[in-house]
Formats: sequence, structure tokens, C-alpha cells
Amino acid sequence: MNPLSTEKIFDFVSKKNFEKIKALADDKQTPFLLINLKKIARKFDELKKYLPLAKIYYAVKANPNGDVIKLLAKKGSCFDIASIGEMRQLLSLGVSGERMSFGNTIKKAVDIAYAFENGITLFTTDSVNDLKNIAKNAPGSRIFFRILTEGSGADWPLSRKFGAHPDMIFRLILKAKQLGLVPYGISFHVGSQQRHIGQWDSAISQCKYLFDTLKNEGIKLQAINIGGGLPARYLQPTQDIEVYTDEIMRFLEKYFGKKLPKIIIEPGRSLVAESGVIVSEIVLISEKSKSSQHKWVYLDVGKFSGLIETMDEAIKYPIFVETKKGHKDLREFILAGPTCDSVDILYEDFKYQFPKNIKIGERVYILTTGAYTTSYSSINFNGVPPLQEFTF
Ligand SMILES: *Cc1c(COP(=O)(O)O)cnc(C)c1O
Repeated sequence: MNPLSTEKIFDFVSKKNFEKIKALADDKQTPFLLINLKKIARKFDELKKYLPLAKIYYAVKANPNGDVIKLLAKKGSCFDIASIGEMRQLLSLGVSGERMSFGNTIKKAVDIAYAFENGITLFTTDSVNDLKNIAKNAPGSRIFFRILTEGSGADWPLSRKFGAHPDMIFRLILKAKQLGLVPYGISFHVGSQQRHIGQWDSAISQCKYLFDTLKNEGIKLQAINIGGGLPARYLQPTQDIEVYTDEIMRFLEKYFGKKLPKIIIEPGRSLVAESGVIVSEIVLISEKSKSSQHKWVYLDVGKFSGLIETMDEAIKYPIFVETKKGHKDLREFILAGPTCDSVDILYEDFKYQFPKNIKIGERVYILTTGAYTTSYSSINFNGVPPLQEFTF
């Protein structure tokens, strides 16, 4: 997939769309993110088509832009929020609390109370202290219990920090019933940009185990929350979404037969990533020594202006430089951001190839950047403002 020649870029964005992006970008100061709302609408429709049984809760943290939220709300999506900051924003856009779930297992008692007062009655937990807080501040609510997953195979794993071992979850569920809550179902997240579809198999098998053992205790769980993890198209190839959804359905039927529980899915990346292009500019090209093999290219975006998922070079964005003079002769470059912090290097091990004749001031298009960019951008490091975002 590397290098990204002019032809290759059209694997990621259509020619027509790219022309439009360039036209929209033409009179603006870089850097900024352009979001194609139609693409998000298509992705939403596609997911509904492939997984008709699942109720979609968009993971707001992936891209909390108001236009994105309004579009998804209009299309009937529900929303998974991580904080009451996100909740307030959604309320201000006219989304009611009944359409939200509070999916973060780490939350303050006052925030649970605020969420409940404003209509949220669906919470996720993985610890007894959080469970007690929910029972006290959101009495009678429905609860998802999050199991640990190992996260291997994911380009951006979420392992260890969230979830608890099934034995602990079993005890939590008994406790929840005692506390007057509704044990609603089991949730998990297999890790973001998960490239091993089999991870859903093992997670769903654990759900089945818990459904069965709790039935023996007289508790009937109703739902499985299969979280996020569906992929977007970056440089490292993945299967198509349809392959994922087919497999997930097969796993569900393998364990639950034809009488499936309610299914909830919380897509973030897979819905919005491909809608975004960051338009950037080359600030500087430099050589560290006469004999060094690779020149450094410094862009006007970096780890602090939205590209934090380049940490450990985890996510490899398709990147395309537009040179005035054709694309024949390619060279490997090291890519870095503009700030005075040495962690602000984007790709040093993995070498991107660009035309040898790239120049300072030329524009660089970073594709598949609609998810986990603006929401991660710092507010003033080195005096750099947060990454701007425009929708079209
Ligand atoms: C971040 C997150 C998601 C979204 O994950 P993606 O891999 O971006 O789809 C879903 N659910 C929860 C609980 C999350 O924290």
C-alpha cells in the first residue's frame, strides 16, 4: 500500500470527492480537518443493513462535532457518552437522555446523578463501588456489566483498564439485583481497529457462559453490547465491515441459537474515520547530516494537534503529498509534527515514501482522520490552537 501514488489515493477517496476537498481547502489556512457528512450517513446505513438486529449507539468520543451528532440523531442513532460534558452537548442539540447510555465505567457519583436526572437509565459498570454509586444515584437503572477482553489484534487496544473477569462480573450481577438495579446484559470492547475477528467469538462465548450461570440464579439477562472495534481503512489492510458483521452474527447464533438476546453496538471509528481528511502543509524539510539516509519532513500538524494515534506508530494514516511536478521518483522520509517536544514525531520506523522533489509549503492530505483527531487535539501547546474542523 506504500507508497501512495496518485492512483492509490483513489482507493481511499473518490476522485470526485478529492476534487471537492481540494476546492474547499483552497482558500483556507492549514491545518484543518474536513468532514464529509454524506460518507458518515452511508456508513451508518451500511451498518444498519449488515447488522439489522443491532441498535446503534454512536460512541461520541470518536468525533463529537455538532453536525455529526445532528446527522446521526436525525438518522435515528442512539449515543454512548463517556462524560456529562458529552451529555450536556447532546442535550443542547436536542438529543434526549433516553437515547443515551453512560458507557464509561469510571464516573463520579454527582455525574451519575446528573445523567439520571436528565433521562439516562442505561449504565455500564465493572466494579462494586461504581455499582453502589449507580444504585444510590440512578435507582432502578438497567446495567451492562463489562467483561475484560485481551485486546490483542487491535491497533488501538483498550485492554486491562476496562472490564472485570467473568467471576467478578457474576458476583457484581447478584449484587446489582440486591441493590434494586436491573441486570440488563453483558458488554465488552475487543479493542479499537480490531483486526482479528475471532476476538468477538471469545467475548461472545463468555457472554453465553454468564447468561447461563445467571439463569441458574434466577436472573435473566436480556442484552449483549458488542462495543466498538469495527475497522476503518488505513494503510494496514482489514476485512470489509460485511465480513465482520457476518462473522459476528455467526458467533451469536453459534452460542445463542435462533433466540438471540437484544444486541447493542457502539461504533465510533468505523462510522466516522473515513469521512475525514486533514489538510496540512510542509513547514520544513531538513537533513541531519551529510550522510544520513532520510530527510525529515515537518508538517503543521502533529501529535498535539490531533494525530495522537500515531503513538507507537499504531495507526498508519494514508498520506498523500501533492507536488507540482509529478510523482515519479520516490524517497523515504521521516515525518514529524511542528512542536518543540520530541514525542511529536509521527513516523520514524515506518517510512513513508513521497516524491523526491517535495517542497516546503506544499499541501499534505492525511486521509481517514475523521475519528479520534479533533477530540484529542490539545488546546494551546506551543501556542498551537486546537485542530479546526469543517463539515460539508
Ligand atoms: C471508544 C468506545 C467505543 C468506540 O470504539 P471504536 O473502536 O472507535 O468503534 C465503543 N464503546 C466504548 C465503551 C468505548 O469506550
